[in-house]
Amino acid sequence: EAKLERGSSFRFFNSSMNQKIVKQVELENEARIALKEQQFFLALQPQIELASKRLTGFEALLRWNHPQRGLVPPGDFLPMLENTAMMSELDFWVMEKAIELLSRLETNGYRNVKMAINLSAAQFANSALLPYLMELIELHKVDARNIELELTETVLVADIERAVDVIQQIRALGCKLAVDDFGTGYSSLSYLKMIPSDIIKIDRSFIAGMLETESDRNIVSSTISMVRSMGQQIIAEGIEQPEQLFQLATMNCQYGQGYYISIPIDEHRLWDVLQTKVYMGRWQL
Ligand code: C2E
Ligand code: MG
Ligand code: MG
Ligand code: MG
Repeated sequence: EAKLERGSSFRFFNSSMNQKIVKQVELENEARIALKEQQFFLALQPQIELASKRLTGFEALLRWNHPQRGLVPPGDFLPMLENTAMMSELDFWVMEKAIELLSRLETNGYRNVKMAINLSAAQFANSALLPYLMELIELHKVDARNIELELTETVLVADIERAVDVIQQIRALGCKLAVDDFGTGYSSLSYLKMIPSDIIKIDRSFIAGMLETESDRNIVSSTISMVRSMGQQIIAEGIEQPEQLFQLATMNCQYGQGYYISIPIDEHRLWDVLQTKVYMGRWQL
C-alpha cells in the first residue's frame, strides 16, 4: 500500500511538473506575440527627495496590457518566465524603452531626472548586459549618471565576487547601482560591505510595519543610519501614508516612493508630474 501511495504521488508530481512546463511554454509564446503586438509598456513611479519634496526620478516598471486578461502585474508573469529566453528579451526591451525615455527627458530639458531600471538575475548573469548597456547609452546619447540599475540582495550575494566585478564595470560606465528590497535577502553585513552600491532601497515590508511595530521602526531607523554612515544613499519604497513619509524624513531617509506620493503612471502622465516638480501632498493625476 505504501508503494502504491508513493507511486501515485510520484505520478501526481510528474503531471503537475508537466502542467507547469506546458503553462510556461504557453506563457512564453503569448509573451512573444505580446511583445510584437506592443501589449507591453512601462509604468513609471515617481521618486522624491523627502526633505525638499522635489522630484528626483522614476522607477521603470513593466506592465502587460493583455487583450483578454487586462492589465497583468509583473508578479503574475515575470517569475514564470524566469530562465526562459523570453525573460531576457523582455529585460532588454525594458532597458531600451527606459533609456529611450530618459533621452527624451534630457532632450526636453530635464537633465537631472533619474531612471531606475530593475535587472533580473538572468540579465545580471548575461555577458551581453554591459555591451548592450554601453550601446544604448551611446545610441540615445544619455547621461549615464541618470541611469540607476536595481538588483536584489539575493542576486548579488549568489556570486559575490562576480557581482562586485560587474558592478564595478557598471559604475565605470557612470551608471549607479541600487540594492533593491533591502532587508529581505538574509545576507550578512560583511557581504553588504563588499558590494560597491550607491543606493540602498529599504524594502516596503519594513515601511508597512513601521508605524505599528517597534521592531520594524527600529530596523528602518538603524538601516538609515548604517547606510548613511557608509556614505551611501537611501530610499524607502512603499510609502502609503503621510505619517510614514514624515517619520522617514525625521530619521534622515533621503528619498522615497510609494502610493502616497504617486502610483506608477503611464508616460502621458509623467509629463504632467514633471511640470509640477515639487510634490505637495498627493500628486493629482
Ligand atoms: P520592485 O522593484 O520592488 O518594485 C516595487 C513594486 O512595489 C512595484 O510593483 C510597485 O508598483 C509597488 N509599489 C510601489 N509603491 C507601493 C506602495 O506604496 N504600496 C504597495 N503595496 N506597493 C507599491 P510591481 O510593478 O507590481 O512590480 C513588482 C516587482 O516586479 C518589482 O518589485 C520588480 O522586482 C519586478 N519588476 C517590475 N518590472 C520589472 C522589469 O522591468 N524587470 C524586472 N527584471 N523586474 C521587474
Ligand atoms: Mg525595483
Ligand atoms: Mg523594490
Ligand atoms: Mg519590492
